[in-house]
Amino acid sequence: MPLLPRRFEKIKSVLKRRMSNLTILTEEIEKPHNLSAILRTCDAVGVLEAHAVFKENRIPTFNSTAQGSQKWVKLNKHESIEAAIKSLKEMGFKLYGTNLHNDAKDYRMFDYRGATAFVMGAEKWGLSKSASALVDESIFIPMRGMVQSLNVSVASAALLFEALRQREESGNHTDSKQSINEHLYKKTLFEWCYPEVADWCKSNGRDYPNLSSDGEIIENLPRTKKFHC
Ligand code: SAM
Repeated sequence: MPLLPRRFEKIKSVLKRRMSNLTILTEEIEKPHNLSAILRTCDAVGVLEAHAVFKENRIPTFNSTAQGSQKWVKLNKHESIEAAIKSLKEMGFKLYGTNLHNDAKDYRMFDYRGATAFVMGAEKWGLSKSASALVDESIFIPMRGMVQSLNVSVASAALLFEALRQREESGNHTDSKQSINEHLYKKTLFEWCYPEVADWCKSNGRDYPNLSSDGEIIENLPRTKKFHC
């Protein structure tokens, strides 16, 4: 099936506004609707990739709350919270752990325009001691109600939109060159346009074919394969 020009333009304009230096790391979130809602917010804000650690490595399924956003926000799964934090730190992220302890600081005190990762805890237990000890800062969203905490997807949305607000205010959120390098842009563009071909290339250990300026694949792929956009 050919890729329609309107869809190709839409994909390019969304991808140009993706930020690889803003992300979220979830620790043992169990409810599919929470994970789905978080990924949907990531898509809305322009987060390129999210990160997660799952209990016993069990991945909750996505439900309709995601509205397909899992196709547009890559979710990187890590073996443990320690490994996830180490890898994000190596990538240059500053990690903000969310918790409701007295020593956590008001989230509005910080500048999220640099490489920022928010670390979100499990629905019931919150962030583990191990994660809390490893993050760079502990933050919380002040609340005025009777209930002690927010739903984790709601807290994630408040933080991600605050980061976006700061970036928009300083005018550095739309410049993909600042955030996504050329190689990552081309790779992601191909994967978003032709996910089945991308999977086929990966399983065959070959590079993705080039795209024309109209988004067409400039190569004859095996005729026996039926690929969809
Ligand atoms: N009893 C848990 C605790 O004490 O952390 C409550 C967990 S809360 C339902 C689930 C997650 O949502 C938290 O780990 C945190 O990531 C996020 N969260 C909820 N309320 C928050 C708030 N006011 N500020 C920052 N994060 C919050």
